[in-house]
Amino acid sequence: MNNFTYTRVTDVATAIKEVSSDEAAAFIAGGTNLIDLMKENVTRPARLVDITRLPLARIDELPDGGLRLGALVTNADTAYNEQVERRYPLLSRAILAGASAQLRNMATNGGNPMQRTRCYYFYDTATPCNKREPGTGCSAIDGFNRIHAILGTSEQCIAVHPSDMCVALTALEAVVRVTGPQGERAIPFGEFHRLPGDTPHIDNNLRNGEIITAIDLPARGFPDHYAYLKVRDRTSYAFALVSVAAALDMKGGVITEARLALGGVAHKPWRNADAEAMLKGIEATRDHFEAVAFAMLRDAKGFRHNTFKITLAQRAIVRALQHAAGMGNKA
Ligand SMILES: Cc1cc2nc3c(=O)[nH]c(=O)nc-3n(C[C@H](O)[C@H](O)[C@H](O)COP(=O)(O)OP(=O)(O)OC[C@H]3O[C@@H](n4cnc5c(N)ncnc54)[C@H](O)[C@@H]3O)c2cc1C
Ligand code: SF4
Repeated sequence: MNNFTYTRVTDVATAIKEVSSDEAAAFIAGGTNLIDLMKENVTRPARLVDITRLPLARIDELPDGGLRLGALVTNADTAYNEQVERRYPLLSRAILAGASAQLRNMATNGGNPMQRTRCYYFYDTATPCNKREPGTGCSAIDGFNRIHAILGTSEQCIAVHPSDMCVALTALEAVVRVTGPQGERAIPFGEFHRLPGDTPHIDNNLRNGEIITAIDLPARGFPDHYAYLKVRDRTSYAFALVSVAAALDMKGGVITEARLALGGVAHKPWRNADAEAMLKGIEATRDHFEAVAFAMLRDAKGFRHNTFKITLAQRAIVRALQHAAGMGNKA
């Protein structure tokens, strides 16, 4: 592990100044991902700017009926917040499906979307990896790629984003609020993460020096018809092979609004507008859900060890939609 200096900041303006003025500086919040990356020599910041004392640890109601989740509220406090549990149970379920109780007590809402892929080669500095060292090649494409992407891949990288929370935030159409040297801006959650393309080393659209201050949830939370289904190798403390966030509004057995997002299949949480549109105005039946699942995975392409994910995702979508529609126990 490289030597680094450590600074603790107490206001957002200073935090931005510290990081934007030094290329080798990085924010640290809960440290649950960054410290691992530093120990493995994947990331070598020369300066850590500790943001845990910033006044961003609140959950507040918004005038439009939504909810603002401060960037420094822990994942645990968010999942167990009374308003989140009651109005956005999909988010609560997704967070609690991730990591472990101890990690969720440290991990923050700002750090979760920023966590990096769990591709084995990304962590193994003895192997080529375009995300870690651009231009060196991708060890996963012809290597062991069981956990890798089946949608939105490029010839440069087939990694997936590992978050559970972000899959629910994508389905809920949350908005990421950021502040940087140029001021404040809002990024729709679906536009926050990027596909790998020719720049797999860039995970998201945050600009240099920008800090996530909050994540806003719109008023509509789908509390009556939702499911978060996570399929993984162990039932706890494991990342998703495939996960599904499903949220429906229904009237008399007919679906009036639908959201569907997949985790574990792409470099970002995956939505498909055409597949979602197929759900609107239909009755909840297994046949309909199977057609939607097929459409959602129509463009999927498996690699040597992960083709099973295509069928797995289709089945998981059907099951999550059935649960959301009340055709079975909640996932
Ligand atoms: C063993 C293990 C298992 C896990 N399992 C799961 C799982 O199943 N599902 C899941 O979703 N996650 C899982 N995680 C990941 C965990 O959720 C993340 O590590 C955590 O959410 C990151 O938050 P943090 O506050 O600790 O971020 P840090 O580690 O402090 O920072 C991570 C990155 O975010 C940046 N950052 C932090 N806060 C901000 C901010 N406000 N603005 C801009 N940049 C910021 C940092 O500079 C750094 O680059 C697991 C982690 C571990 C170690
Ligand atoms: S999939 Fe991406 S992260 Fe993994 S080795 Fe290839 S370039 Fe690196």
